[in-house]
Amino acid sequence: MFTRYFSVGRKIVFSSLLLGLIGALLAGSLQLMIFHHKRAEQYDAVINDLQAYLNSYFAELLTTIDKLQPLSLSPCASVAADLTSRAAFSLNVRAFLLVENGNATCSSATGEMNVPIKQLVPQVDISKKLDIEILPGTPMMPQKPAFALWVRSPLLENRGVFTSINASLMPWLLYSSRQNQFSGIALATNGTAISTFSSHPQPTSMLKRTPIRSATVHGVPLSIYLYGDEWTVESIQFSLLMGAVCGLLTGLLCYYVLSVRLRPGKEITSAIKRNQFYVVYQPVVDAESMQIRGVEVLMRWKHPTAGEIPPDAFINFAEAQQLIVPLTRHLFQLIAHDAPVLKKLLPPGAKLGINIAPAHLLAESFQQDLKDLSHMLPANYFQLVLEITERDMLSQHHAVKLFEWLHHEGYEIAIDDFGTGHSALIYLERYAFDYLKIDRGFINAIGTETVTSPVLDAVLTLARKMSLVTVAEGVETQEQANWLRDHGVNFMQGYWISRPLTLEKLLEAHQKPENYFTTR
Ligand code: C2E
Ligand code: CA
Ligand code: CA
Repeated sequence: MFTRYFSVGRKIVFSSLLLGLIGALLAGSLQLMIFHHKRAEQYDAVINDLQAYLNSYFAELLTTIDKLQPLSLSPCASVAADLTSRAAFSLNVRAFLLVENGNATCSSATGEMNVPIKQLVPQVDISKKLDIEILPGTPMMPQKPAFALWVRSPLLENRGVFTSINASLMPWLLYSSRQNQFSGIALATNGTAISTFSSHPQPTSMLKRTPIRSATVHGVPLSIYLYGDEWTVESIQFSLLMGAVCGLLTGLLCYYVLSVRLRPGKEITSAIKRNQFYVVYQPVVDAESMQIRGVEVLMRWKHPTAGEIPPDAFINFAEAQQLIVPLTRHLFQLIAHDAPVLKKLLPPGAKLGINIAPAHLLAESFQQDLKDLSHMLPANYFQLVLEITERDMLSQHHAVKLFEWLHHEGYEIAIDDFGTGHSALIYLERYAFDYLKIDRGFINAIGTETVTSPVLDAVLTLARKMSLVTVAEGVETQEQANWLRDHGVNFMQGYWISRPLTLEKLLEAHQKPENYFTTR
């Protein structure tokens, strides 16, 4: 989880991106759904309005036609005026024709006539009680589509009224001009339709794809079809924009919240409070006698969810978060807590090797923190050894003074990881170290190289000449131990001697006579 400081950063970025994406998808699709719902409501309202309009229009017209039916009993001349005025007062009606035995006998437009209705409108079936057809035009208005409505007289046999109705002024024009999301409206009967897509009647089969809404007119075999888009470009664009904005906001919010809550700084402070750190001790033995001479204190973090986090990782965090000082103070507390038991396990003068991070070394509180630790430990029993690396010594002046003070106060100093690049030979000359801890990289090489470790050999010779006490780190095999002993290494530390142990395990090992680091 926290293998590196930046991996947390990456985790935060990744989570924020993911949540942002989810936010964008949710907001975008919600917006699209809202649009869709609104649109559906509008379509419903329009088709209902259209249906209601046409229902009432035809109901009124049929009532008028009912009143006209008896007129066919009278001579045309005597009823023509009545017929004409009725047509004039009936909305959209072009003409009423009185029909008797299949012949149109009287017209509201032209007066008396005698023309077979079949000749006028071949499609109309006058054997039906009611029939409606769509015509491309009427004799007087041949270019303007019309409805032809036939209504047989319910009482008088072989008579009826034929009506031609303007199809051009139908309400769809009003609707289609007002509602821009509709692509069109069609009215259809008997396989023919008039629509806003064409100025002429068309076969119904030629109409566009399926309508989004349809309805029928009450009392007349007429269907209303509404055409439009389920999704419009604008609504999709707006939803995308909405999704992008919401996604961005969610991502930013998530980033902020996670940064505040997940950053390791917070984690480390709360881990201190929750006692998630503990220490292990790795024995350091005398190379000749193999007797334990001290321990190196190594910190551990048992994270409740991430498990054991290696110290390399969280020490780096703590340094990056400027939390190394409180963390080391906490370490000092843990050591002080274990000190009474350690006193029983380790001989007087036993060395407690403590790793000191560069940032702490340079901190103002460093000297006071050390004094506090000394006060918490049993008086005059342990020898504190501060393990530091070359990179810790930023300012020479500061380091020289500090080392003087440390020696004056009775602390010892070890140069850690010697040979890894963190330490350089020049520092050996410049600073007064007590111990040289040879990095396990060199120890590993023992026995694997054809010419046996010339560099290590040289380092040991140099150390001897400079009267530096040497500690070999990471001793993993007997072969390595033998080689090191033969080449005059003073102390050894490594898995072959003992792994780092908790206080309980250290106690157990001490109590068993066959215990490896006292008998080997
Ligand atoms: P280091 O100071 O070089 O500590 C020795 C590391 O080598 C430890 O790893 C130890 O477990 C490991 N080690 C010991 N013997 C062997 C061996 O035979 N073979 C191998 N392969 N490894 C061995 P650990 O505990 O993971 O610590 C890693 C580093 O974290 C330490 O390196 C030290 O730089 C830092 N560290 C640990 N505890 C603290 C602390 O309390 N404060 C500070 N500032 N740094 C700490
Ligand atoms: Ca160390
Ligand atoms: Ca080391």
